[in-house]
Amino acid sequence: MLPYIAPSLRAHILNILLSHASDNDSIPVESDSEEDPYTLRSTVTKGGSTAVGAFATCDIERGEPIVTERAICIWPQELKREEAEALFEQMSDHARDALLALANVAPSDLGEVLGRRATNGFNVEVPELEMEWAGVYKDEKGEGKGEIRPSHAGFIFPRIARMNHSCLNNADHAIDWSNLLMTVYATTPLAEGQEITIEYTSALIQRTRAERQAILQDSFMFSCACECCSLTGEALAASDRRRKEVNEIVVGIASGGFERPTVLKGFARMAQLIEEEGYMGMPEFSDPGVTGAYHMWVQMVKRRMASEED
Ligand SMILES: [Zn+2]
Repeated sequence: MLPYIAPSLRAHILNILLSHASDNDSIPVESDSEEDPYTLRSTVTKGGSTAVGAFATCDIERGEPIVTERAICIWPQELKREEAEALFEQMSDHARDALLALANVAPSDLGEVLGRRATNGFNVEVPELEMEWAGVYKDEKGEGKGEIRPSHAGFIFPRIARMNHSCLNNADHAIDWSNLLMTVYATTPLAEGQEITIEYTSALIQRTRAERQAILQDSFMFSCACECCSLTGEALAASDRRRKEVNEIVVGIASGGFERPTVLKGFARMAQLIEEEGYMGMPEFSDPGVTGAYHMWVQMVKRRMASEED
């Protein structure tokens, strides 16, 4: 089933689908929930409250897909309550039921629909199109016809939304833009019975505990009680120092003032800090350019290590 795409995003999302169409020739399928290697059950968080979480039902290897799912809806960000409710009315009965079955921990003034969007939505960075269709998008000054190109959109994946957040997540997610399917995969080997966790928002690797708490409370209305946020004393201070240093490097590289050797040294230092922090995923930083360059650098280092082993 295709997601319900808000009218203001339709042209852009369809263009993305068309431009990625040749990436994947296989017929997109959503995995059968009965075959997923996890089960949902309630868990007591370190903060003492109970929440539903996803737990591995077998050992899962690093890189193995855990669940693949298509969003039920794709909405613009920063919707008002009435706008969200108007979009909800346009959705199919099935999609509306799926949305209403999700948790809502948002303040009651957001209402049933926007509250669930706030509690469960992913803010996904929308890819740049290589060739913008003439006349469809406004320029910086708002001239031209049609819509402003969105940088992010809010996606709701009902099953993936049941997975809890951790600042040291053991699973990551990626969207295939040729079919709008999101896959969650393990970033570290998982043992049967272990909780599967994902990261709800990007750039937390650059944020101290206090900053992460504020961001997660503000965007998702919960206080994080993950392994990393539960650290105290010197262990917490060391974690905060590492994340602050990662932030300084990202901001420095993003400013564009570094020579290439300094950038490469920065990437090596970041990789070391991220490893010391115990973060297993491929981090997304506050600057997409730095993220892309860092990912390329990691691949290059891996290739070099592999060729040295031969
Ligand atoms: Zn946390």
